Amino acid sequence: MGEMRVAVVGAGGRMGKALVGAVAEASGMRLTGAVERPGSDALGKDAGDLAGVGKLDVTVTDDALPVFAATDAVLDFTAPKATLEFAELAAQARIVHVIGTTGWSEGEDEPLLAAARHARIVKSGNMSLGVNLLASLVRKAAAALDSDYDIEVLEMHHRHKVDAPSGTALLLGEAAAEGRGIDLAQHSVRVRDGITGERETGSIGFATLRGGGVIGEHTVILAGGGERIELTHRAEDRQLFARGAARAALWAFDQKPGFYTMADVLGLRD
Ligand code: NAP
Repeated sequence: MGEMRVAVVGAGGRMGKALVGAVAEASGMRLTGAVERPGSDALGKDAGDLAGVGKLDVTVTDDALPVFAATDAVLDFTAPKATLEFAELAAQARIVHVIGTTGWSEGEDEPLLAAARHARIVKSGNMSLGVNLLASLVRKAAAALDSDYDIEVLEMHHRHKVDAPSGTALLLGEAAAEGRGIDLAQHSVRVRDGITGERETGSIGFATLRGGGVIGEHTVILAGGGERIELTHRAEDRQLFARGAARAALWAFDQKPGFYTMADVLGLRD
């Protein structure tokens, strides 16, 4: 195969810029398209200049259709509504769609399963090796320790983040729930305020901190009677997620249409 053609949607965003940089530095792929929403300040600019990696001769456009028609993969860290629209286009074009977008409400991402009949979708609330490894450790710890050990997921992100709990916190909560053999939606406590009553045995709690420029910190706590286990990941550079997304695109290029996660990409399925 020649170089893989890759487009970035949301190219003017924090992650969009990091993705453009990751594609520019990766071998085996080149940037062939960059999309932003109508009215964005980024429109008409060179995606490389915008990302601070030098001119790449790819102009940011709001017309996604021709971009999707002329690319092998799309990297998408935008917002749920936009990602659903991009998934339809990716299915029509039968290409790879790497989705890092978070903030999905219950069931909102179901149309992605239909899109995955034609597109090769890789979706993950966190594209880093470290967090996906952490998730498999959390699954094991939750399975090994019974419900005498209370599970809490604590996260902190920068002040601009718009959704909570983070996609990564939910991914880790999901791993804990899998380890326990329970349904996260039925057992999660996402907010506490006022007279909440005692903690319900077997529930999985979430706590959210926001402030400053924190890229992403997550700790899963398993608190027993006389001891506490804490499993932590600290992201120090958002390029980490962008490189993971580029790696996912290369991996998915050789797969059949379907719905995949980073655990598939990284061979962490147990
Ligand atoms: P951001 O800076 O707000 O970037 C989102 C970009 O998408 C913005 O430029 C936004 O444009 C653009 N966009 C929204 N709707 C669009 C549309 N219809 N067409 C084209 N572009 C559109 O946010 P961010 O910090 O980069 O985060 C983006 C997403 O990635 C969030 O859901 C975040 O939680 C997630 N994330 C995931 C991971 C992971 O590893 N999975 C890591 C970090 C972040 P406007 O500004 O004009 O709205």
